[in-house]
Parts: sequence; C-alpha cells; structure tokens
Amino acid sequence: MIRPPLPADEAARQATLDAYRILDTPREAAYDDLVEIAAAICDVPIAVITLVDRDRQWFKAARGLDAIETAREVAFCAHAILDPDHTTVVTDARQDARFSANPLVVGDPNVRFYAGAPLRASDGQPLGTFCVVDDRPRELAPAQRSALEALSRQATRLMELHRVSHELRLQLEERSWYEQQLLHYQQELEHQNADLAEQSMTDPLTGLANRRAFSRTLDLAIEHAHAMGTPLSVAIVDIDHFKSINDLHGHAEGDRVLQMLGAMLLSTETARGRVARFGGEEFVRLLPGCTLSEAARECEFLREAVAALPTGLPVTISIGVAALESHEDASSLLARADQALYRAKGEGRDRVCTLP
Ligand code: GH3
Ligand code: MG
Ligand code: MG
Repeated sequence: MIRPPLPADEAARQATLDAYRILDTPREAAYDDLVEIAAAICDVPIAVITLVDRDRQWFKAARGLDAIETAREVAFCAHAILDPDHTTVVTDARQDARFSANPLVVGDPNVRFYAGAPLRASDGQPLGTFCVVDDRPRELAPAQRSALEALSRQATRLMELHRVSHELRLQLEERSWYEQQLLHYQQELEHQNADLAEQSMTDPLTGLANRRAFSRTLDLAIEHAHAMGTPLSVAIVDIDHFKSINDLHGHAEGDRVLQMLGAMLLSTETARGRVARFGGEEFVRLLPGCTLSEAARECEFLREAVAALPTGLPVTISIGVAALESHEDASSLLARADQALYRAKGEGRDRVCTLP
C-alpha cells in the first residue's frame, strides 16, 4: 500500500475546508439524495460524499457504508484529491500498487472498483470527492462519469450554500449586537441629557431652582394671572450684612447660612420652582394667588422664621414685595420688587416692604 502524500498547498486546502464548517455536521437529506442518485446511475452498492480532513476522511453522506469516517492514510480519496482536475478511476484495486494492500481492499468492504470526482471549492481547492465503490472490478461508462462529475458539482454547491448562509447568520447576529449597543448608548445619552438639563436649572449650592429656571416659571405664572385675572405677587429676599458674615466667620460659614436659608425657603413651598436662588445672597419667591397684602403677610412669617433659625449667627433678611399690575411683564414686576427691597434696606433692614 502506498500512503497518500499531502497536496503541495495542504495548509491552504485545509483552511478552505475548515471555512465551510461542514465537518461533523449531522446527516442531511439533500446530500443523502445525491448519493442515492449516484449509486443508481453508476449501478454500485456504495456511494459516498467524503471530505479529506487532517488525518481522516469524514463522510457527509454515505450509502452502503456504516462507517462515518476512516483514517486518511487508507483513504482512496486522499489519492484522488492529488489530481483535482480529473476523476480518479481504479478498475481493480488489487492490481493497483497504491491500494493492493489497503485494509479496505484486503478486508471489509473489499473494495475493487473506485471512481472519485473531486469536490472543488470556489477557490479551486479539492475538499474531498464524490465517489462510487464496488466490491467487484469494473469500468465506468462515459455517461456515468459525466453524471458522477455533475453530482460532485452539485454537492459542492450545497456546501457553498451552507457556508454562505452560516456567514449571513453571523453577520445578522453581529448587526443585532451593534444595534443593541447603539440603543444602549442612546439611552445612556438621554439620561445624561436629562441630568444636564436638570443641572442647568438648579443652583448647585442650595439645590434650589436657579434664576434661569425661575424666569420660566415666572413668565408662565404671569401669563396665567393675566389670562385668569388672578393676583400674583413676587418677593425678593436679601440677607442683611451678609458680607460681614463672610468677613467675620469665613466663606464656608457663609455658604452654610445660604444652604440653611435655601432649605427653609424650600420647606415653605410645595410647588417646585416657586422659590429660587436669584444670585449671591438673594432669593426670590413667587406667590401666585396672593394680593400684595397677603404676600406681605406671608413674607413677614418668613422673615420671623429666618430670624429664629438656629444658625448660631445673627442672620436677618430684608424682603421687597410687589404685586402684578395689569399688562405688566416679568422684568417690570421684578424691578418693582427690587425697589421695595431697596426701601427695606434704607429703612433699617430686617423688614418687609411693599410697593403699592
Ligand atoms: P446688605 O445688607 O446691604 O445686603 O449687605 P450685604 O453685605 O448682604 O450685601 P453685599 O452686596 O455688600 O454683599 C453680598 C456678599 O455676598 C458679597 C459676596 O461675597 C457674598 N456672596 C455672594 N455669593 C456668595 C456665595 O455663594 N457664598 C458666600 N459665602 N458668599 C457669597
Ligand atoms: Mg444683595
Ligand atoms: Mg445682602
């Protein structure tokens, strides 16, 4: 017996075969049908679609054989792939030096006749053969040879289809993975945007709405008050002599006072955005539905509450209040509240002043 040598570019051939991912896949009817047809046309008991792997030949379909693979060194097909352009025909294996001592010849299944048409991959590499086998010597008629070669091409097309559909499935899986990543990324961005929007509306020191946010709330409230004819008042709250608190006790202590006052203001309001840090040591409070005198009374409570705050420091506030007049806009209303505050400072601080 002559052991089959390896093809010159065996590494490339094996790589091509591996890329088909067909080795050790289950039996498939489409291949089984082809070997049935081959056996009938060639009038033989055995027909096989075999792939030559590293050290074995593996049968994708076999008719008349129970084995699923044999060692490569005894494989007729390992010889046949050395001549990939032609169908290898052995009329009597006992007369052929390559096979006369082959265990498949001297023992079961007693191979005498062999004809193998190479299975050529799309890159030309021979992957194995489509072969027919008989246990008695014989010839292959030209029409039978043509049919065997046609069936071999057909088997290769099936394998090609299998390979392409596998690659497509991988691409689809990869695509859906990328789509999931994109969705995740988008949700992440939306969260971040929401956080940023929140941050752009909030004063970081006190957690109150900032001037920007308040101005939106005020515009809407004014629009509503004009439309419904309901009263609306605004109060500007300013800490008295705050600079001295900073100067005497330090900036950090000043910050703490601002935070305590912010928390207090927040606790007086249930609706979000009605109190805001207006800037520096000034706060603003919206009093929808309050006439000037009602607002002034509310603010008086606030002034007293601040004076009683347990800050450990003598903290007082001055408050200027103004009520919305017909056709008045936000900047005019705020300017009048600021004038009232100016008056409160002028009259000695720690008080509430109104502008009629
Ligand atoms: P008045 O009674 O007239 O309002 O006097 P005042 O000292 O409160 O007013 P002034 O405008 O002279 O000073 C306000 C001070 O507030 C000056 C500034 O350094 C301080 N300030 C502004 N923002 C902050 C802050 O975020 N933290 C602290 N600690 N101080 C601040
Ligand atoms: Mg001030
Ligand atoms: Mg002040």
